[in-house]
Amino acid sequence: MPAAHPPAPGRAASLDPESWDEVRALGHRMLDDMIDYVAGIRERPVWQPLPDGLRAELRAHLPDEPVGIEAAYADFRRLVEPYATGNTHPRFLGWVHGGGNPAAMLGEILAAGLNANLGGRDHAPIEVERQVVRWAASALGLPETAGGLILTGSSMANFIGVLCARRRALGADVRRLGLGEARLVAYASEGAHACLPRAMDMAGIGSDALRRVPVTADRRMDLAALGRLIEADLAAGFTPFLIAATAGTVDSGAVDDLAAVAGIAREHGLWFHVDGAFGAFVALSQRLRPLVAGISEADSVAFDFHKWGQVQYDAGCVLVRNQQHLADTFAQNVDYLQHETRGLAGNAPWPCDLGPELSRGFRALKVWMTLKTYGAEGLGRVVEACCDRARELVARVDADPRLELLAPAPLNVVCFRVRDEHDADTLNHDIVVALQESGIAAPSTTRIGGRLAIRAAFVNHRTRPEDVDILVDAVLSLAGALRGATTG
Ligand SMILES: *Cc1c(COP(=O)(O)O)cnc(C)c1O
Repeated sequence: MPAAHPPAPGRAASLDPESWDEVRALGHRMLDDMIDYVAGIRERPVWQPLPDGLRAELRAHLPDEPVGIEAAYADFRRLVEPYATGNTHPRFLGWVHGGGNPAAMLGEILAAGLNANLGGRDHAPIEVERQVVRWAASALGLPETAGGLILTGSSMANFIGVLCARRRALGADVRRLGLGEARLVAYASEGAHACLPRAMDMAGIGSDALRRVPVTADRRMDLAALGRLIEADLAAGFTPFLIAATAGTVDSGAVDDLAAVAGIAREHGLWFHVDGAFGAFVALSQRLRPLVAGISEADSVAFDFHKWGQVQYDAGCVLVRNQQHLADTFAQNVDYLQHETRGLAGNAPWPCDLGPELSRGFRALKVWMTLKTYGAEGLGRVVEACCDRARELVARVDADPRLELLAPAPLNVVCFRVRDEHDADTLNHDIVVALQESGIAAPSTTRIGGRLAIRAAFVNHRTRPEDVDILVDAVLSLAGALRGATTG
């Protein structure tokens, strides 16, 4: 169908403005507004629900007529900005969310300006990604042969780890023929993240083939049980191929004994993967590094820059001990992606030879800006400060007979609750919902041994000691109010 309003001759269909001055002025205003937003984040509610009327506007159909960038920006300020998740706020303590940082925020603008595609070809942005990957590999003590990719997050990174392990176990044929008769099985602790069974599902192996190894009282993988499961699977004709240890479980921050798991994996010839989504960053702290000893022995590691690394979403990473495993798992030979030794098609291997994506944005730049701006030391201090906040919370819980700790807190995640002889699960659940709706603080919940816990994960570089007190005081006062409401 011909366009109803063909563009004026000479203007073609370009989306660029007639005058860049207006874009420049608006851009500067946006930047000022956003810097004010982040600088003033502490004074805002952590979270507030999106009102129904505004939600309805966000579900309206695509406009036919342009509204222009000024109006689009006004809508952003009115509909979106006040109702974000809240993880930039120092008292967002739910799940495991990073706070972001100014250097990465500005880095995002730079990356958007370049609009680079990091699938491949010969350009500096690819070198930036490679540099970030090398820095990460060396921080974790992986050898020079290591390679990796910047990805959306650890869900994708864990999936890639599973695919590399599958390819190693079954050889090149698995890529053409699929699993065939193979009965692969893998192992991860009961505390492992849900993206691991999903990775097994997506890899065609099936989530039941991920054996969930029981945990000991400190919520780490029970290594004796792991050994028994492997023996039982071998005796039953299964093919063990992978152990996925966790460095920092989501529920309590437990770190499996990585060195011991590495030994067991080696003994049985299994791929040793580490899900270090947030815990891998412990390697940046001199003081805490011993907790992740053994991570350097991993065949692959998944972790996120967007959690403890404080980089803006999204930015995860997979590292593989030997980059060749990524190439073996993903490289293809296609005519329209031929590599050359010179020109723009040089610089092999390309990221698209090492992973599942062809077009890829320049996520690496915000990571690179962050690592350069703050250095390994600056980020290591953030990790230590978060663990200090966890210690402070544990101390308050231990000191108060109204509160109890539900799991050891070796890292930055604290599971606690208000004691209640009637129905502690309901009370603590209601406290968390009320706390989130109050805008004061936003922890989340989990279950530890079947008991509902208030779960506070300290992942944000902005969180101060007084924020821990504000959290505990609010929990206790809401407990009183909720009890008053049910008995009164
Ligand atoms: C967050 C998390 C994941 C998933 O990572 P995404 O970046 O959200 O995809 C996996 N494992 C652990 C331990 C996590 O904390």
